[in-house]
Amino acid sequence: LLQLAAPLNFIGFVYREIRQGLTDIEQMFDLLEVEAEVKDTPDARELKINAGGVISFKDVHFAYDPERPILKGISFEVGAGKTVAVVGPSGAGKSTLSRLLYRFYDVQSGSIEIDGQDVRDLTQKSLRAAIGMVPQDTVLFNDTIAYNIRYGRPSASEEEVSAAAEVAQVGDFIRALPEGFQTKVGERGLKLSGGEKQRVAIARTILKAPPILILDEATSALDTTTEREIQTALDIVSKNRTTLVIAHRLSTVIGADEIIVLKNGQIAERGKHQALLARNGLYASMWNRQQEATEAEEYLKKVRESD
Ligand code: ADP
Ligand code: MG
Repeated sequence: LLQLAAPLNFIGFVYREIRQGLTDIEQMFDLLEVEAEVKDTPDARELKINAGGVISFKDVHFAYDPERPILKGISFEVGAGKTVAVVGPSGAGKSTLSRLLYRFYDVQSGSIEIDGQDVRDLTQKSLRAAIGMVPQDTVLFNDTIAYNIRYGRPSASEEEVSAAAEVAQVGDFIRALPEGFQTKVGERGLKLSGGEKQRVAIARTILKAPPILILDEATSALDTTTEREIQTALDIVSKNRTTLVIAHRLSTVIGADEIIVLKNGQIAERGKHQALLARNGLYASMWNRQQEATEAEEYLKKVRESD
C-alpha cells in the first residue's frame, strides 16, 4: 500500500489480499485517502446538483502511464436523467471513464464537469456522495445482508432495507434464506452468485438514492432469467437518474439515449442503436457477433435441457 501512484490493477490485487472485511471499494478509497493521488484543493467546494446532474466530458485526455495514452480527446454529455452507454472492445478505456468521473484519477487535459462544476474543484466527499457505483464485481462485507444493503444509507429503517431489496429483485431470494436478512454473507459467510451480489449492490444504491449512477455491467454471461431480473432492477434504479453505463447487455444498449463506441481511447462511432446498426460499422459488427453468441448459447441450453 506504499505507492499509491501504483496502477489500479495493483491496488485491486492488494485489495483482494486484504481480507478483513474491507470489501467495499468506496471504503477502501476512504481508507487510503491520505495517500491517494487525487486530493481536495484547499478551496474545494461542495458539489451542487442544480441542473439535474448533467455530466460533461470535454476533450478529456488521460494516461495511467505518460508513455501510453488511454483516452485521446473524449467529449460527450449525459443529460439530466438520461442514460449514455459506452461500448467497445476490451481495453478501449471504458472503465477508465467511470474512474475519472468518480475521480480516482484526474484528467491530464480537458475536463469533466457535473452541472457545470469541474470535478477537480469539488470535495471528493460531496462528489462521491452524489454518485452511485454498481461495479462489475461487487465484493460484499463479511456481515449480514441487511448490513450490506443498509450501507447505502445507514439511517435506513428495516422496512426501507426490505423495500430496496424488493425493488432490486432480490427480496424473494433473501426471504428464502434460513436467516433471511440476518444471513451472513461474504468471504466468511454465504457465497452469493455474481448476479445475486450485483442485486444486493443495486439495493444498496437504491437506498443511497444518488442523482448520478455509474454502472459497470458484468461481461460474463448471465442466464436469461438473471439478466432479466437485473435489467428490471437497473431500469428502476436508473429511472430519472443521470446514468453512465459501461454496457455489455443488449437490453441496456438498445434503450440508451446515446451509445458511445470507444476504440483505442477515441470515439469511433456514436448515436442511437438503430442509427448505429444502419451505419454497418464497428457497432453493427459487435452487435451481430453478440447476437450470434446469444443464439448459440440459447441453442446449447435447449440441447442440454432436452437431454
Ligand atoms: P475497458 O474497461 O475498456 O476494458 P480500461 O478502461 O479498464 O478498459 O483500461 C484501458 C487501458 O488502460 C487498458 O489497456 C488497461 O490495461 C489500462 N489500464 C487500466 N487500468 C490501469 C492502471 N491502473 N494502470 C495502468 N494501466 C491501466
Ligand atoms: Mg472495463
